[in-house]
Amino acid sequence: MTDNFDLEHIWHPYTSMTQPLPTFKVKRAYGATIELDDGRTLIDGMSSWWCAIHGYNHPELNQAVTDQLQNMSHIMFGGLTHDPAIELGKILLKITPPSLDKIFYADSGSVAVEVALKMAVQFWAAQGQPQKTNFITTRSGYHGDTWNAMSVCDPVTGMHQIFGTSLPNRLFVAAPQTKFHEEWNPQDIAELEQAIQQNHEKLAALIIEPIVQGAGGMRFYHPEYLRQAKALCEKYHLLLIFDEIATGFGRTGKLFAWEHAQVEPDIMCLGKGLTGGYMTLSATLTTKHVAETISRGEAGVFMHGPTFMANPLACAVALKSTQLLIEQDWQANIKRIEQQLSQHLVPLNELDYVADVRVLGAIGVVELTFNVDMKTLQQQFVDRGIWIRPFGKLVYVMPPYVITQQELSDLLEQLVEVVQTMQGAH
Ligand code: PMP
Repeated sequence: MTDNFDLEHIWHPYTSMTQPLPTFKVKRAYGATIELDDGRTLIDGMSSWWCAIHGYNHPELNQAVTDQLQNMSHIMFGGLTHDPAIELGKILLKITPPSLDKIFYADSGSVAVEVALKMAVQFWAAQGQPQKTNFITTRSGYHGDTWNAMSVCDPVTGMHQIFGTSLPNRLFVAAPQTKFHEEWNPQDIAELEQAIQQNHEKLAALIIEPIVQGAGGMRFYHPEYLRQAKALCEKYHLLLIFDEIATGFGRTGKLFAWEHAQVEPDIMCLGKGLTGGYMTLSATLTTKHVAETISRGEAGVFMHGPTFMANPLACAVALKSTQLLIEQDWQANIKRIEQQLSQHLVPLNELDYVADVRVLGAIGVVELTFNVDMKTLQQQFVDRGIWIRPFGKLVYVMPPYVITQQELSDLLEQLVEVVQTMQGAH
C-alpha cells in the first residue's frame, strides 16, 4: 500500500525518515468519503485535522476556485488589493467578536499565531513599554510548529525538550482544570492570577485556545476560566489572544468558541476551516485600538508581509465556505452530530481502560488509560473502512459537517468495536 518513493523520500508529519509509519495513498475524496488508490473507501472522521468542514470536492467550493482561477490565482498584496480579500473581510467582521475590526491575512495557522504575538509586542512598544515582550499561556496548549508558536505549546507534550534553550522562555501555568460541564471551581484561576500579578510588567499577552485545547490533549474547559482570564488581562494590562484556529467555524457548537464565554479577545487567530480545507490561509483579527496603537509606534507600520498574503484563490474559497456555513442551519446540524457522538461514545466510559469520554459540538473524544499503538490502530480502522488518526491516549473524531447520519453511525460503530476489542492489548 505504501508508495516506495513516498516512503524513501517524503517526510510526513512528525515521522521518522528511517522508520516511517505506513501511509495510505488517496486517489480522491468527496463528501465524507476518502477513496484509496486500491479502490477501498473510508468514512472520514478527521476533516483533515479540523479543516474540511463541508467535506471534500464540494461543487460550490470547486466552483468558487474555478471562477477565481479565471481572474487570477495570485497577485501580490503590497500596493494591490482584490475583491476576494475585501468580501471575505466583510463577512469575517460580521461573524467574529464585535470589537475586532482589522484583519491580517497570512498563509497558515502557525503564521497567524506568529502575527498575533508580533502584534502584541509592537502594541506595547508603541506605548513606550518595550519591556513587555513575553507571553503567558496554559499547559496542554497547542499553537503551531513555527518558532514562537512552538514556544507557547505545552512544554512537555510539545517540542521544548528537543529545541531546548533555542526556544524563548515563556511563562506556563496549569491547564484549566474545571471541565466544560462541571461546576466552576474558583481555585482554577488562582495560578494564572498569581503568575500575572508577579510578571505582568514583562508580559505582552496571554495566549490561549478558548474552551477546547486541541492537539495538546483535546480538553474542554469551563467558560468561566476565560471570563476571569479576561478580567486579569484588563487589570494587569496584558492583551488577550484567542487561538480559534481549531475551534472556529462551528466546530464546538458555537460559530466561534469565544461565544461560550462571551469574552472578546484583543486578537483572534483563524485558520483551518476558514477555507473549508481547500487551501491554506489564516487571518489574525484585532481591534481598532491595537491596530491604531501599533500604527502610532516608532515603526509606524506592522512589520509583517508574507508573499502569499491574502492569496485570492484561498480568499475566494474561504468566502464561499463561510457563506455556505452561515446560510444553512449549521447549529441544528452540529447538534445532530453531537447527539450521535454522545449516543455512541458515552457507553465506552464503562470500560476500565477508558479514562474519559467527552463530546462537545462536532468533537468526540475517547481518552484511554494507555498510549495507543498508532500503527496497529490505524491499520485496524482502515481495514474497517474508517479514517481516524489517534494520538497518545486519545482516539477522537471531528467529522466533516456533511457526514450523513448513516455514515456517522457506521464510523462510530466501527470505532466503538475497535475500542471494545482493545482489552488485553495494553
Ligand atoms: N493553533 C491551533 C489551535 C491548531 O490546532 C493548529 C494546527 N493544528 C495551529 C495553531 C497551527 O496551524 P497550521 O498547522 O495551519 O500552521
